Amino acid sequence: MAAVAALILTAPVLANDNIIPVSKETKDIATHLRDKAIDDDSAYEILKSLTTEVGARHPGTPGEKAGIEWAINKLKALGFDKVYTEDVNMNGWLRGVETAEILLPSYQKLIITALGRSKSTPEGGLEADIVHFKTYADLEKALDGSLKGKIAFISNRMQQLKDGGGYGPANIARSKGHELAAQKGAEALLIRSIGTDDHRNPHTGATNVAMGYTAVPAVALSNPDADQLVRLMDYGHSPKIRLNIQTKDLGPIVTKNVIGEITGRELPNEVVVIGGHLDSWDLGTGAVDDGAGVAIAMATGAFIKNNAKLRPRRTIRVILWGAEELGLIGARAYAKARQEDGTIANHVIGSESDFGAGPIYGLQSSNNVSPNAIHVVDTMAGLMGKLGVSRRSGDTSGGPDMIPLAALGVPALNLMQDGTDYFDLHHTPDDTFDKVNPEHMRQNLAVWTVFTFIAAEWPGSFK
Ligand SMILES: [Zn+2]
Repeated sequence: MAAVAALILTAPVLANDNIIPVSKETKDIATHLRDKAIDDDSAYEILKSLTTEVGARHPGTPGEKAGIEWAINKLKALGFDKVYTEDVNMNGWLRGVETAEILLPSYQKLIITALGRSKSTPEGGLEADIVHFKTYADLEKALDGSLKGKIAFISNRMQQLKDGGGYGPANIARSKGHELAAQKGAEALLIRSIGTDDHRNPHTGATNVAMGYTAVPAVALSNPDADQLVRLMDYGHSPKIRLNIQTKDLGPIVTKNVIGEITGRELPNEVVVIGGHLDSWDLGTGAVDDGAGVAIAMATGAFIKNNAKLRPRRTIRVILWGAEELGLIGARAYAKARQEDGTIANHVIGSESDFGAGPIYGLQSSNNVSPNAIHVVDTMAGLMGKLGVSRRSGDTSGGPDMIPLAALGVPALNLMQDGTDYFDLHHTPDDTFDKVNPEHMRQNLAVWTVFTFIAAEWPGSFK
């Protein structure tokens, strides 16, 4: 997620012959949908089913297979006109044993988890002293080879912000820290979890490795455990750690993007893309990341089909992306296939819900939305005003899985959620259904319904 200043746009719409207005009928239908959706619990109910009847959906696990079956059956049951899947090739990775203990100056257990694609330690673990770096940049300054026989520990804490802007700057320790630690000669990398909570939950997450393993074993400590290590060092101790990580490379596996469509009445080949990612990390049940997005998108398509008096002009394509967590693998495969077969041009506009289950407060459009279509986004924001949403400036890819499509020129909107608490739960065992507020899910459904209906119904081009 990019951190962008949130400013309210006040640019007037200039008189232009190419501007196609949003009709009164379209606005009336969108208003009706909005006011009905705010009392509708279907997104919440879909999320409850996914997180309860399936649970975690990490690629290469039975849970992931069950999640794909669940999605196909649920889209059909919701009345989608077309339901299909597309294979996505990737390399699977599983966590196994993960334990860590402070051996000196006094024995204490640490709560850790392996980062995505972490390599294993020697069987039974390794023992080494900790060398502390406050930030990734500080580790960069260490001499190459200087950490032989040591564990590099990066302790900086991510900043808690409504728009998640603290994530990117902190995340480099997680994604690339293992390479840097190896370059400095370290035996392993230990980072403070990229998370904002104070619970003894470690946060897992991807490294920059697509195949095989990280350069050294790479693990995250819960925030209280990271604090504990820092305090020990403040007392002048140099803690000795035993770290045992055993993971498995599954080699090539096949996952899927699951797709459901509400066929457009007039322009069925033109698609408005909405979605969330179906895969999750393995520690929780993937409720806020990203069961909520999956449920909101599925509910939006079904709600419009069942409640709009007019079926929208264009096709609504709900994409439940596969293997987002390991590097947008499903999204990249989808975009590449559309680039190759030329259907990328049919993608009118898109957005993904992948920032939890908090209420939406802002609507942002990508820089490639045509000046002749900005008034449509403003109209959407106007109708969303009653729901607490205002128009915001700044560019957007429209969500992580939209990045490959946005890079190919597909216009995107960002339905900005309040993510203040998102990184308390993100990638932890605590990412479970009970954290989700049904009122917020209804608000999300109402906002998504306004965007999706108008985008699919307004006859002009967003490009
Ligand atoms: Zn996600």
